Amino acid sequence: MSAVLAGLDEAQTEAVLAPGGPVCVLAGAGTGKTRTITHRIAYRSLTGETAARHVLAITFTARAAGEMRGRLIQLGVAGAQARTFHAAALRQLRYFAPRLFQGRPMPELLESKGRLVSQAALREGVRLAGTAVRDVTSEIEWAKAMMIEASDFPAAATKAERELPIDAAALSSVYMAYEQLKRRSQRIDFEDLLRAMVWALEEHPDVAEQIRSQYRHFVVDEYQDVNPLQQRLLEAWLGGREDLCVVGDASQTIYSFTGASADHLLGFARQRPGAVVVRLERDYRSTPQVVQLANQVIAGASGQHAAARLKLVGQRPDGPVPRVVRCEDETAEAEAVAARCAELITGDTPASEIAVLFRTNAQSELYEQALAERGVPYVVRGTERFFERPEVREAMILLRGAAHAAAADQPLVEAVTDALSGGGFTPAAPPPGGAARERWEALAALVRLASDAIAAGTVAGTAGAGLPAFNDLLAGRATAQHAPTVEGVTLASLHAAKGLEWAAVFLVGLTEGTMPISYAQTTDHIEEERRLLYVGITRAKERLWLSWAAARQPGGRSGRRPSRFLPTDAPEQKATRATSFVASSPAKPKRGLPTCRLCGVALFDSTQRKLRRCGGCPPPEPDAELFERLREWRERIAAELAVPPYLILTDA
Ligand code: ATP
Ligand code: MG
Repeated sequence: MSAVLAGLDEAQTEAVLAPGGPVCVLAGAGTGKTRTITHRIAYRSLTGETAARHVLAITFTARAAGEMRGRLIQLGVAGAQARTFHAAALRQLRYFAPRLFQGRPMPELLESKGRLVSQAALREGVRLAGTAVRDVTSEIEWAKAMMIEASDFPAAATKAERELPIDAAALSSVYMAYEQLKRRSQRIDFEDLLRAMVWALEEHPDVAEQIRSQYRHFVVDEYQDVNPLQQRLLEAWLGGREDLCVVGDASQTIYSFTGASADHLLGFARQRPGAVVVRLERDYRSTPQVVQLANQVIAGASGQHAAARLKLVGQRPDGPVPRVVRCEDETAEAEAVAARCAELITGDTPASEIAVLFRTNAQSELYEQALAERGVPYVVRGTERFFERPEVREAMILLRGAAHAAAADQPLVEAVTDALSGGGFTPAAPPPGGAARERWEALAALVRLASDAIAAGTVAGTAGAGLPAFNDLLAGRATAQHAPTVEGVTLASLHAAKGLEWAAVFLVGLTEGTMPISYAQTTDHIEEERRLLYVGITRAKERLWLSWAAARQPGGRSGRRPSRFLPTDAPEQKATRATSFVASSPAKPKRGLPTCRLCGVALFDSTQRKLRRCGGCPPPEPDAELFERLREWRERIAAELAVPPYLILTDA
């Protein structure tokens, strides 16, 4: 017992000891919210107040659930359920399926909505381009999480002032047809899973009674990101009881695009009179230097989240001042980060205590490459490794096909674009969020890779000569990446880094357009981007690097600006390919020297290493500059029209 209470401060202890009624812990990052609820479960279980088997703890990710179970076992408590909303609902639904579905098998889970949405659109005579399928899918997901029925969609959509890809009435009819097709194919989607559980609890008193007698004490971590549907399920589980403890930080709300809202957290005490509200301020995770930066970044926030802001007070000894690092281009940035990682590992920081965090998963490719070249092991979290992603594998097959079909003198970038379009990729506006966006960004990264390769002189600018070389380059990169390792530098998106911590954190790609992301246009959306950066900063225990690149590619126009969220008074350091910063890294590549991208010969000369091209291979194509200008022109026009120049994979 003493072990459970030892290691908790006064406010944390108050939350642990609060009797079983509504308890709300409002606190900033790193103040021990997750630790507090874990210890609360342990305390109540060990004192016999609530046996572990009667506990249902809801976490945001499966990994967080696993960590909580592990920590509970360390504290001597076994048998508590720690799961995500979906995992908990699925488990309960499976258990009660024979009763709920009257002997019929439980409907199968629909993993991806895209195909059915396309069919629904076809049936309704609504023309959807590639991206629009994604847009409509995300919109349906949002509506379902908000519990907006298809028939109510137009009104609700107008109210929410959502930028819809097609008119609201058409969207409503596609939504309705999607629901019908899904029902006919005996499937349920992820939102239905939660809805089905709500239905089971609200309409089947016997099931509700059994579940409610099993689960008596509820705990929800990351409560600031709960959506209305999840909240409804939580209420249904509770069935009017009040033994609920929620913890959250409004400054870390980063999923509003999926319908999540901090309102539930901020209104908790108002809705539950008598709730015990505990505020934690002491930051046990990060050095005062990191805490100061986090406070500074979030201090600029506006709106309701700002009102709920909790200032953090660092508890740890002093550490190094966070560095803002300016790099000449993205490749130099990745190389600088990889070099620094190698240096830290050679020092006393284990690879597993280092993370490289980025805004979009497509950014991971450059870092995978740079770390692999230095022989630094890494693990990609929350997404597959870039070249293992299905859309990237599919794209590589399409590109191999195009090598035989494209006109020899067609510009390479155009041929790549065409090849991807031919297989279902269509240039169009970006989808609003989630998996759709991720796929779209991965494909955009492939097209960028093609224009980078031309600019670097690695491949020729025409399809005839360039496409086979580009395919070789892709194949080479795909195999150069490391086999999965358990211990390694973590590569993750900021979203996937939620709740986690590392000794050293690199926040990369912090330019305007990436952070905040270009499609964040409204104040609300931009504020969410700020919170995302705040989440990133507060992942660091000791060392924090914030880097940005002035140009996208070597020799490109240095027109980029650093993220508006970066404080201007933070110490800035310059990192270019030529600085000693990269060259003086004590870490030698463990897997041999880098090789020429074109012919594969080992590169001994440092200039060659920087260019990743040997002396014998051809210099950049003369039209590289033209391509760069063309790309910039496209980006400018796209920005003016507010349609980023990306590509999208359809499900069709
Ligand atoms: P986030 O908002 O990022 O989810 P959190 O509030 O959940 O953060 P935790 O992850 O619970 O914070 O704790 C952050 C770190 O501080 C962990 O390493 C935890 O072990 C440590 N910690 C928390 N409370 C204390 C304490 N009282 N004494 C020492 N260390 C603590
Ligand atoms: Mg936490």
